[in-house]
Amino acid sequence: MSATRTVAVYSLGGTIAMTADPVTGGVAPALSAHDLLAAVPGLEGHDVELRVHDVRRVPGASLTFDDLTELGSAVDRTLTGGGIDGVVITQGTDTIEETAFALGLRHRHEQPVIVTGAMRNPTMAGPDGPANLYAAVLTAAAPHLRGTGVLVVLNDEIHAARHVRKSHTTSPAAFTSPGSGPIGRITEGSVRLTAAPPRRFGLVAGPRVRDVRVGLYTVSLGDDGELLAAWDGRCDGLVVAAFGVGHVPGRLVETLERLAARVPVVLSSRIDNGPVLTGTYGYPGSEMDLIGRGLVPAGDLGPYRARLLLHELLAQDVGPEAITEAFAVFAS
Ligand code: ASP
Repeated sequence: MSATRTVAVYSLGGTIAMTADPVTGGVAPALSAHDLLAAVPGLEGHDVELRVHDVRRVPGASLTFDDLTELGSAVDRTLTGGGIDGVVITQGTDTIEETAFALGLRHRHEQPVIVTGAMRNPTMAGPDGPANLYAAVLTAAAPHLRGTGVLVVLNDEIHAARHVRKSHTTSPAAFTSPGSGPIGRITEGSVRLTAAPPRRFGLVAGPRVRDVRVGLYTVSLGDDGELLAAWDGRCDGLVVAAFGVGHVPGRLVETLERLAARVPVVLSSRIDNGPVLTGTYGYPGSEMDLIGRGLVPAGDLGPYRARLLLHELLAQDVGPEAITEAFAVFAS
């Protein structure tokens, strides 16, 4: 890299920032963004200037929509202000696939935003945090990464926020993009894109005008529908993580039809890889039956991401047509 590049780093906590807690005997988030960067060897040779922001020190599971809104606004302000070539966010890996997707929904800048974390905490043999942070900073600083949106970097791989999954509980190679694979790689300090990043999807731009709760309901074998019915009156929208291509037990269809008459109900697949269908199966509880009863097909958007998109749309108070259109983007 020739000219100095400037990267803003925001830290939220997670395993990457954990140290031994004397009270519990386990590890807990404690390290600042400065601490994390101080543990990364080799960055000084890359002519990258870092602007560091300590935002939260929480486990990934405890991040909230408010945290994300605050972070998204801070990143937006920083990038609007100019002088920053890219952004790195460090956080708990438990929620990376959701936060990266949610941030990507509103990201409108050319500078890339790279989300990273660690699977092994700093007290363990072979902690992966420093290597992941190193790779994330280089990716954020890479001039040819402009326009690639929000990305997730771990284990020297670059994944699109649109596809990445945490697919193992402990492995440093936990992050994968089922069905599409990583879009790039970091080797010997150089960042290489090996596939075109997915089309940008800055789908939501309007202001959030209300607080909403979007439920997620996963169907499973022998489901009698009692718990599904309990969502009635308790949410502003619901995502159903259905079987396979979008199927539920036949005994659930009336409850779903009733719910869909009151709030948007999105039909997604609990497989979270591949699309729900819209016109193949035609029996009670099939995708054709459910869509006919008012459910909105999520395309190939898995249930966690579908919930985030529905949450954003409902928070902006958009109507049913706009919701159907937004999900149709993911049907191709
Ligand atoms: N439970 C941790 C968290 O998400 C896991 C991690 O960061 O890898 O905060």
